[in-house]
Amino acid sequence: MDDIKEKSDFIREIIRQYLNNENEEKDNSERSAKTKKIHTRFPPEPNGYLHIGHAKSICLNFGLASEFGGKCNLRFDDTNPTKEEQEYVDSIKEDIKWLGFDWDSREFYASDYFNRLYEFALILIKKGKAYVCDLSSDEIREFRGTLKEPGRESPYRNRSIDENLRLFEEMRLGRYPDGSKVLRAKIDMSSPNLNMRDPIMYRILRRSHHRTKDKWCIYPTYDWAHGQSDSIEGITHSICTLEFEDHRPLYDWFIEQLEIHHPRQIEFARLNLTYTVMSKRMLLMLVEEKHVSGWDDPRMPTISGMRRRGYPPEAIRNFCSQIGVAKADSTVDFAFLEYIIRENLNKNALRAMAILNPLKVIIDNYPEDLSEELTAINNPEDDSAGTRKVPFSKVIYIEKEDFMEEPPGKFYRLAPGREVRLRYAYFIKCESVVKDDKGNILEVHCTYDPQTKGGDAPDGRKVKATLHWVSEKHSIPAEVRLYNHLFAVENPYKTEEGGDFKDNLNPDSLKVLKDCRLEPSLLNVKPGDIYQFERIGYFCVDIGSTKEKIIFNRTVTLKDEWAKIKKSV
Ligand code: ATP
Ligand code: MG
Repeated sequence: MDDIKEKSDFIREIIRQYLNNENEEKDNSERSAKTKKIHTRFPPEPNGYLHIGHAKSICLNFGLASEFGGKCNLRFDDTNPTKEEQEYVDSIKEDIKWLGFDWDSREFYASDYFNRLYEFALILIKKGKAYVCDLSSDEIREFRGTLKEPGRESPYRNRSIDENLRLFEEMRLGRYPDGSKVLRAKIDMSSPNLNMRDPIMYRILRRSHHRTKDKWCIYPTYDWAHGQSDSIEGITHSICTLEFEDHRPLYDWFIEQLEIHHPRQIEFARLNLTYTVMSKRMLLMLVEEKHVSGWDDPRMPTISGMRRRGYPPEAIRNFCSQIGVAKADSTVDFAFLEYIIRENLNKNALRAMAILNPLKVIIDNYPEDLSEELTAINNPEDDSAGTRKVPFSKVIYIEKEDFMEEPPGKFYRLAPGREVRLRYAYFIKCESVVKDDKGNILEVHCTYDPQTKGGDAPDGRKVKATLHWVSEKHSIPAEVRLYNHLFAVENPYKTEEGGDFKDNLNPDSLKVLKDCRLEPSLLNVKPGDIYQFERIGYFCVDIGSTKEKIIFNRTVTLKDEWAKIKKSV
C-alpha cells in the first residue's frame, strides 16, 4: 500500500515461485497458476497488546496478501485461558485497523476449532500415534532428556488404543484433576529435536475461556493447535518467527499423520529494537508493576503506545518496509525508527510556536497596548498548508535556554547587549536583566527595531540566531510530557548476574513540564493532532487532553541521531 515498486526478499521469492508453479514441493492443489492465490494470516495470542514487532508481522502478512492478490486472516491463537482476555482481543483489532489493514470478515479463533482439534486428536489416538500419560509435569520434563541425552519413554506410552480413547474422553468429561493427565503425541523420545520427544497435545485445566467459557476442561497446546488451525483455514504460507523453525518438523508430522492440507511454513527473523524490550510477558510486568501508566504509555514499544506518542501509521508501515525481512536475527537501532517518524512528520506536521520553559521578555520600547498579527508559515514543506496569524505584543516568552547572561564562545542566542531575531517578528536586543535575591533571572528587558518587522533589517545587518516565542497575554497554558528511552541501555535484556531487565529502566524516561505556553492557534487542538513546535520537536496531543488542560506528548526531537550513527558504521 505504500511502496508500489516491487519488493524483493526471500519470502516474496518463495511466493513468486509458488504462484508460477515452479515449486517442487508437495502441493496437492490442482489449481492452475492463474487461479492460484496465496492465503496468509496474522495469528496473535490475545495475552497482551501488540508491539512494533507484531507490526512487522502484520505488515508482512497483510502486505503479501495485498501485493499478490491473496487474502490474510486474523486469527487469535487463544489456547491458553489463563492468560487471555477479551480486552486484548479488542485492542489487537483496533491496532491492526489503525495500522491500515483489514481482514474483512475473516476473524477467526483457534477456539473455534476446539471440536475439530479434539476429533483430530481422536484420529491420532486411533492410529496409535497419541497416548494419555500420567507423569507429572516435572517427571515429563525429567524424562524428556537434554540436547545431549536422549529422553526416556513414559511408562504409559504403550497403553492400548482403547484405553487411550477411554481415558482421553474421561479427561474431557472432567473425571480427573487438573494436571493429572495429558495427551501426548507418540513420536520419538530419542529424536535430536526435543520438540519431537512426545510433545504434549492436551492438558487438563479448569479455567473459563474468554470465548468457550466452561465448555472445556481440556485445552490444546499451542503446538497442537497452531498448524492445524492454519490447515483448517487453507493457509498457503504460514509465516512465523525463527524460534518456530525447530517446531516445523512437529507441525509437519501432525499434518502428515492427519492427511490434511499442508501450509508451507516460512520463518523470518523477529524485530528487535535497541533501548526497549519486545516481549509481551515483560511488557505486562511493566504495566502490572506500574513502571508505566499502561499498555499505551507513550514510552511503550506497543502500537497503542506509539499511536499515543504520535507515530503515524504510515510511518510505522514505512519502517517495517524499510527494515525488510531476513533470516538472521538482528537489532534495529531505535534512532532509525525515529528517523523514519521524523521524515514523515517533517512533510506532514503543521508548525507552531510553543515555549516549554518560559522566560519572560519585556520589550521596553514596544507600545503598551499594541498587539500585531504576524504571518507565520504553517509548513515550509507543503505550500498548500498556507499561513496563519500569530499575535505579538510587549511581553513575550522565550525558552530559558535561549538566554545566557554570560554566554560561552559558541552560544549565539540572546545575551546582554546582543541582538537576535524573533521568528516572523522583529529583531530584539537585550538591554538588562532583572533577578531575584537568589540571583535567578526573573525577566529580560529588550528593545526592538520596528524597521525589522517580518524578520529582516533594511540596512542588511545580520543576527546569528532566530528564536521562537509566544505573546504572554495571548498564549495558552499547556502541559508537555517529554519522553526518552524507556531503558537506559541499548540492550535491556542483558543484566548483571541475579539482576532483572527492570534494573535497566531509564529513571529519566519521562519529564513532565507543567507551565508551558503555546501560541493561541493551538486552543482547539484535539487528541491525536500532531505539530512541529519550531526548533524543538514534534508533539502530539495526548488522549487525556481537554480544552481546559491541554497536554502534548513529545513524539520525537528534531535532532537526527540516525545520521550520526549511520556515518559511524
Ligand atoms: P511475544 O514474545 O512478544 O509475546 P509472541 O510471538 O508470543 O510475542 P504472538 O501473539 O504469538 O506473540 O505473535 C503473533 C505473531 O507476531 C506471530 O506470528 C509472531 O511470530 C509475530 N511476532 C511476534 N513478535 C515479533 C517480532 N518481534 N518481530 C516480528 N514478528 C513478531
Ligand atoms: Mg507466542
